[in-house]
Amino acid sequence: MPEYDVIVAGGGISGLMSALTLSKHGKKVLVLEKNSIVGGNCNSYNVDGFQVDTGPHAITHLREGPLRRLMDEYFTYVPVFVDYGHYYVRTEKGLTKIPSNLKEFAMFDVIPRKDRLLLSQALTKALTLNAFDMLEGNKSV
Ligand SMILES: Cc1cc2nc3c(=O)[nH]c(=O)nc-3n(C[C@H](O)[C@H](O)[C@H](O)COP(=O)(O)OP(=O)(O)OC[C@H]3O[C@@H](n4cnc5c(N)ncnc54)[C@H](O)[C@@H]3O)c2cc1C
Repeated sequence: MPEYDVIVAGGGISGLMSALTLSKHGKKVLVLEKNSIVGGNCNSYNVDGFQVDTGPHAITHLREGPLRRLMDEYFTYVPVFVDYGHYYVRTEKGLTKIPSNLKEFAMFDVIPRKDRLLLSQALTKALTLNAFDMLEGNKSV
């Protein structure tokens, strides 16, 4: 039976990055994954020719931030990420583009009107505070 310094349960992005980091620091690591593929939530599948992403690439962004820093520090080869257009929500009515500005958001009828109004107000407030450098970093938008 081989010996390991660390056994990581789960090959999602957290487990894989932990295992990679530990192994780069000389630890012998075993990753146990119950599924047939690794990646966990950070994966994708295809529906009618559309790639459906299920992971952290939509909001986190891959050009900067903590994931980027980990990749730069620990990856031997850092992948080149390419923007590939818009994101869509799939409902029984079909596909609707996810809004990328406040005007589109106001028309985004996937979300009930009342909620859109509340969210628009919160977003406007957050954007305004951010523009004046008054947004407290520890407050959730
Ligand atoms: C649609 C969607 C969009 C998202 N967008 C963002 C985003 O923009 N930004 C962001 O930061 N985050 C986002 N997230 C969240 C992000 O994807 C998750 O936080 C992250 O992928 C979680 O990684 P994880 O490794 O902790 O867990 P998981 O991805 O859940 O991985 C856990 C792994 O452990 C395995 N496992 C579980 N139990 C066992 C066991 N007993 N034995 C062996 N293996 C086991 C599972 O099969 C799985 O592979 C999004 C999530 C979703 C679903």
